[in-house]
Amino acid sequence: MYTVLDLPSDDYGCIQIITNHIYPLGIVCPWENHESVLVREKYMWCSVCRRKWSLKKLLGFGYAKISWRQILALVLGWIRKLSPGDILGMVGMSYETIQRWLERLRKRLPEDAGKLEGLVEIDQSYLGKRKNNNQVLVMGVVERESNEIRIQLIPDMAQDSVEGFLDEWVEPGSLIHADAHSSHLALEDVGYGLILCNHDRGHFGPTNRQEGVWSSLDRFVIRTRVQFMKRFLPGILREFCARRNHQELFTDPLTFLKLTSNLS
Ligand SMILES: [Zn+2]
Repeated sequence: MYTVLDLPSDDYGCIQIITNHIYPLGIVCPWENHESVLVREKYMWCSVCRRKWSLKKLLGFGYAKISWRQILALVLGWIRKLSPGDILGMVGMSYETIQRWLERLRKRLPEDAGKLEGLVEIDQSYLGKRKNNNQVLVMGVVERESNEIRIQLIPDMAQDSVEGFLDEWVEPGSLIHADAHSSHLALEDVGYGLILCNHDRGHFGPTNRQEGVWSSLDRFVIRTRVQFMKRFLPGILREFCARRNHQELFTDPLTFLKLTSNLS
């Protein structure tokens, strides 16, 4: 939809784009839906209630000094998967401030709830490099029918760790496709159907989908940050899963703002 070049250069232009999207039928006051609203850069004013309110606060940006144009450019750059360094060039804030804002945006994303079921693929993958103690093991599941995913950190490849992940994210009775790792061999004993394939023999077919998830996770990590850092993992995984499971939030900045605000 927008590129940063399309954004109005002044704050008043930006607030108009935002209000047109959020109030397609015209701005109304939050108390009595009065239509006699005056728009200012810093506040809205209802001339019937004779009260003012902050749209920034309603949109979740009330606690910091950030201009409307910076809000749009920040969310736009983030949705487009630009690195913090590139966003910095668009928004004009310090690197640390951008990182903080990105973490806040990620916190607005919905947490995935609910188990996947039916035909599913599971697999594990390492992120990061072992040196500097900066490597983690993640486990993932993809549901064939919906393409929805769940990904979570697991401590190791032990059977208990694998089954702990499945307890949380996969309905018993589902038919699991997995590689022939020893921790997968007994999954039928805990209530799942099981089809194993042997990665060692180049037999990837049954877990193709989950392999694809790992390679796009790798690309996502490389593209959105200079290097993988363990401490950012919760935010990375939340964003990565949301981009797949809640694609509607990532179409454009205005939709994101509206759907994750206190307004809708
Ligand atoms: Zn009013």
